[in-house]
Amino acid sequence: MTVTPRVVVLAGGVGGARFSLGVRSALASRGEAPATIVVNTGDDLWLTGIRLQPDVDSILYALAGVNDTQRGWGRTGDSERVHHEVQAYGAGWPWFTLGDLDLGTHLARTGWLREGLTPSQVVAGLSRRWDLGATLLPMTDAEVDTHVVVRDGERLHFQEWWTRHRATLEPIAFENPGVDAATPAPGVVEAIRGADVVLIAPSNPVVSIGPILAVPGIREALRATDARVVGVSPIIGGRVVRGMADVCLTAIGVDTSSSGVAAHYGARAADGLLDAWLLAEEDAASASAVEALGIRPVVVPLWMTDAAASTALAEAALTA
Ligand code: GDP
Ligand code: CA
Repeated sequence: MTVTPRVVVLAGGVGGARFSLGVRSALASRGEAPATIVVNTGDDLWLTGIRLQPDVDSILYALAGVNDTQRGWGRTGDSERVHHEVQAYGAGWPWFTLGDLDLGTHLARTGWLREGLTPSQVVAGLSRRWDLGATLLPMTDAEVDTHVVVRDGERLHFQEWWTRHRATLEPIAFENPGVDAATPAPGVVEAIRGADVVLIAPSNPVVSIGPILAVPGIREALRATDARVVGVSPIIGGRVVRGMADVCLTAIGVDTSSSGVAAHYGARAADGLLDAWLLAEEDAASASAVEALGIRPVVVPLWMTDAAASTALAEAALTA
């Protein structure tokens, strides 16, 4: 008999990983079944013949306890010998460093893809190595890499816009070519429908959660599930915490505020997704605006500064 996962998390990379660690420890201390984490694959790309999945790897490495917490990406204690060799040939992207250990993951992934495995099977294969304490699912098996259309009409892969240009080229639109024909990865809709709680991690609403919600069937499953859908604000005190999510929000006309992001996700009672929204103590004044949207506001500390803080935040989200 399989145990239906009680908790589903929708997540991007680093913010998603920190939150997922909190959810894992909160569930473990309650003796409950591990969560299913639906991960954004809009960040994925092909580079020098290999397939990268930055958000999947951020969560994989964090749950495995092998992530580089100083840099915020990649493996701890990694080296860059292969990267320098690739650069010496003038191949790849000089501004996109791939660590040697990280390349091991990418080669395993690419090899499996070339042998005909689906991205879901590949994520399961990568997960098997570690004791993750959660099930990772890509949002879809389709390749729907995020593109950014910038002011002069040029179109860039999200990673080039984000990592090379540091989000300084003014974006007009974020697109996931092919997403309209994509389907959720096996297990995603079933997990959402069978859940008691679905948590939207404090990930970038536009380029991390946005692509997940753009996969036809996922939004519908969130609207139809009996689970409570609880979101966590990535905005604290009217600012994005780490990174450049405000540029993305502005581009799609969403105010960089906790209530602005809550309004963007919307209330389930009004064609949206949320039953409850966790906002920071710094944003407590926005609670009434959230309530007016038809979403239950829950004011809690939102800084995931250490494991205890992330666990407390996850605990608050689970009970919201
Ligand atoms: P990425 O894919 O690596 O960019 O990571 P995510 O999309 O998962 O998360 C990025 C978002 O996490 C940023 O927009 C931040 O505002 C948010 N974030 C980062 N650290 C924290 C934190 O400690 N608390 C909260 N509430 N949000 C955070
Ligand atoms: Ca990401």
